[in-house]
Amino acid sequence: MRRLCSLILTATAGALVGVLILAARALPPSPPPSLGSAPADFRPPPGALERLAAAIRVPTVSRDYPATAPAFDALHELLREAFPRVHATLQQERVAGHTLLYTWHGRDASAPALLLLAHQDVVPVDDERLPHWQQPPFDGVNADGYLWGRGTLDDKSSLMAQLEAAEALLGDAFVPPQTIYLVFGHDEEVSGSGAAAVAALLAERGTRIGMVLDEGLTLTEGVFPGVNRPVALVGVAEKGYLNLTLRASAAGGHSSMPPQDTAIGRLAAALDAVRTHPMPARMETPVADMLRSVGGERSWLQRVALGNLWLFEPLVRSELARTPAGGAMLRTTVTPTILRAGLKDNVLPQSAEAVLNARLLPGDSSDAVVAHLHTAIDDPAIEILPATEVREATPVSETSGTAFRALSDRIVEVFPDALVAPGLMMGGTDARHFVTLSRHVYRFQPVRITLADLPRFHGDDERIAPAAYEDMIRFYAVLMRGAIGDGGAAAATPGTP
Ligand SMILES: [Zn+2]
Repeated sequence: MRRLCSLILTATAGALVGVLILAARALPPSPPPSLGSAPADFRPPPGALERLAAAIRVPTVSRDYPATAPAFDALHELLREAFPRVHATLQQERVAGHTLLYTWHGRDASAPALLLLAHQDVVPVDDERLPHWQQPPFDGVNADGYLWGRGTLDDKSSLMAQLEAAEALLGDAFVPPQTIYLVFGHDEEVSGSGAAAVAALLAERGTRIGMVLDEGLTLTEGVFPGVNRPVALVGVAEKGYLNLTLRASAAGGHSSMPPQDTAIGRLAAALDAVRTHPMPARMETPVADMLRSVGGERSWLQRVALGNLWLFEPLVRSELARTPAGGAMLRTTVTPTILRAGLKDNVLPQSAEAVLNARLLPGDSSDAVVAHLHTAIDDPAIEILPATEVREATPVSETSGTAFRALSDRIVEVFPDALVAPGLMMGGTDARHFVTLSRHVYRFQPVRITLADLPRFHGDDERIAPAAYEDMIRFYAVLMRGAIGDGGAAAATPGTP
């Protein structure tokens, strides 16, 4: 009896110690938002919104390039007129057709450079979507408190804001601490080669780049339940992209006397195997870091879980996997998007095909996906045709060094209420071409939006609030003005592939 009592006592004490250890490791609540105001000594130049409106009116649709080349010429002309100091001071090169590379030499030529990306091109607006727009997409209308049009969010606002910031700083005879490159691709929306050509050119010149910043995630309110502050998500990696075709072949014949195995039946079984054998889930660094960063805003119990991922990761993972967006952060997804089979209702087709679209988690290669599918499907009658389009996931950029800290500091300087967190990009950006040039490749568009605005990217009623645009200009000015590491030189060493 005494033995039992002491056992119970020991067990209870052990559990208590365990709870205390977990509590001690719980994330601290995040500090309240800083009450500082945006830097008062930089004022966005007058007329900036009108210049953005003028850029919106130039329909630089890359889907139809090179038929739309004259629109890109017109945009270049507009930039020359709108930003005379930039064009008088910065070296300008045209690469791969209409991609632009500006070089702004810094005070310290040996310091690793800051490279800012944006893209000139936009996605089209199809005729049947026009009635869904409150204002025409290419008229640059300023109404009801917003500037409306294709490119106001994606991504002419970034491009114009960077040039506005540079033009204003040049007005004060400013010279940046390190060299700044501005790279404006002309074919980002069609996964083109403009930005890749610039990356190749800079690599050939032996350029050292301390930090790359492109569009990507944004400053958004309401993304995380229970987090009552806007979160500035900085994409530190991009998922990869892969299309594969599954093909089942069979004898065909008349459907009145079907055999046991048909092409459609075999393909259906294969697709079911794909669905029931997902790639294994795991929590990659950007996702774990993101959860930890926003975790300080959560309840005590959630902070205990997020501060002790070594123990609670399975629990947190299953919680995250409950939504498609959360699930996509945890694994390489593979899903059928196109089916092709059959021509007539009474004829068995000789072949049936399905296109699988895969989005690769950093660390999973396209070869690994193909190998996984072979194992999951386990049917020699199913061919997996080689991929037509392969984009491997990018490496994960560092978040522990001075470059990320400098970026976070600048974000909080301009957006004092923001919580900065690393994140994983589901889509692709031109930034991926620069991962061999820098270990610090980040994807963040300094635009303050709400969750409801996200469908406006590539969707109807794309628009920007004038105040949000001014903040973008202010952010780029603050970023250009400062060093990106300790004294600019310590930010980075050139990355390894
Ligand atoms: Zn974009």
